[in-house]
Amino acid sequence: MKQDNCIFCKIANGEIPSKTLYEDESFRVILDLSPATRGHALILPKDHAANLLELPDEAAGKVLVLAKKMAITMKERLHCDGLNLVQNNGETAGQTVMHFHLHMIPRYDADGQNINWKPGETTQEELVAVCEEMTK
Ligand code: 5GP
Ligand code: ZN
Repeated sequence: MKQDNCIFCKIANGEIPSKTLYEDESFRVILDLSPATRGHALILPKDHAANLLELPDEAAGKVLVLAKKMAITMKERLHCDGLNLVQNNGETAGQTVMHFHLHMIPRYDADGQNINWKPGETTQEELVAVCEEMTK
């Protein structure tokens, strides 16, 4: 199901043209317009889901299989040295387009990109507390 006024719904369903790398009945894979590196791609489901929490299990299951297929193509065709998968959920996490998308960012030696986080510190007590909060 598409959502009105969602740009990725329009792109995924071909109403707005895009540089398409792959398409099937459920997904379109496009080149990002502001690429972090050469070949930066986005996997878009054709049905609207705002984020991972809204993504149906069937699509969630398929998306990583598709990512693997695209990763193989990126390696073979672009000769990247590595690859980051990034998937932002919510404004706080940096999501700017509220239609689920999986970033595939090919990495090249010395590409100058920095897709990272600042490692923090914790304690055994805090690890136990978080573990209990999530499992009990
Ligand atoms: P987010 O920050 O939501 O995880 O990522 C959104 C991504 O979508 C950004 O990398 C941005 O460059 C890309 N983007 C936004 N609008 C368009 C568009 O109209 N076409 C394409 N191909 N990419 C877009
Ligand atoms: Zn949408």
